[in-house]
Amino acid sequence: MTPLQLQGIGMTSQRTRDRLVSRLRDQGIKNKDVLDVMANTPRHIFIEEALSHRAYEDTALPIGFGQTISQPYIVAKMTELLLELGSLESVLEIGTGCGYQTAVLSQLVGRVYSVERIAPLQEKAKKTASLLRINNVKFKHSDGNWGWPEEGPYDAILSAAAPDHIPPELAEQLKVGGRLILPVGDDHKQDLIMVTREEDGFTKRKLEPVMFVPMLSGTQK
Ligand code: SAH
Repeated sequence: MTPLQLQGIGMTSQRTRDRLVSRLRDQGIKNKDVLDVMANTPRHIFIEEALSHRAYEDTALPIGFGQTISQPYIVAKMTELLLELGSLESVLEIGTGCGYQTAVLSQLVGRVYSVERIAPLQEKAKKTASLLRINNVKFKHSDGNWGWPEEGPYDAILSAAAPDHIPPELAEQLKVGGRLILPVGDDHKQDLIMVTREEDGFTKRKLEPVMFVPMLSGTQK
């Protein structure tokens, strides 16, 4: 990829990215660091070239294997909610996908641990991360239903795939005061849920209706 392709031109230019960020602001995203990082992260390099002219639309787009790159609004929203906790040392992400959310997060927190069940998607995400010189992310090919206990506990956990119930293993890998943000539901109805680990248990808050791909079990080569 040439520096010009990385930077973007026309439909992938800085101006197009800035327009997306002002739409995010209109939709209520307030955290300036999140908006700055999204303005400076080239989303077009995470998707196929044939789709790159749509990279700065506020929609999910196909990335192969029946999966999608997350919608920019939801990436911004989830990141903003996590950063309400203050500075975050370590964050676990379930569902690397093409690595766009990973890239945004990695610029705002100490370390990101990212788990994906589809190997080729994660391999490509790793390459894109190194293209962007991102070096504070550790990737793992595994079933994220089980989290990544060896690297925990985490300040925050985020999932880009929707289980039908909150996996208890994920909540257990939070530090006290930490937050787990994830979509929960089925193909027809999901809500974004925030689970907070308190000294003596967990509290759960329903945030807004969302639509993510389902959290599946096992891994795929
Ligand atoms: N934020 C990502 C979203 C990818 S879509 C991006 O912007 O690209 C959600 C991803 O979760 C998919 O890649 C899917 O393969 C993955 N996924 C689904 N179930 C999973 C599981 N049990 N463990 C790990 N990843 C899972």
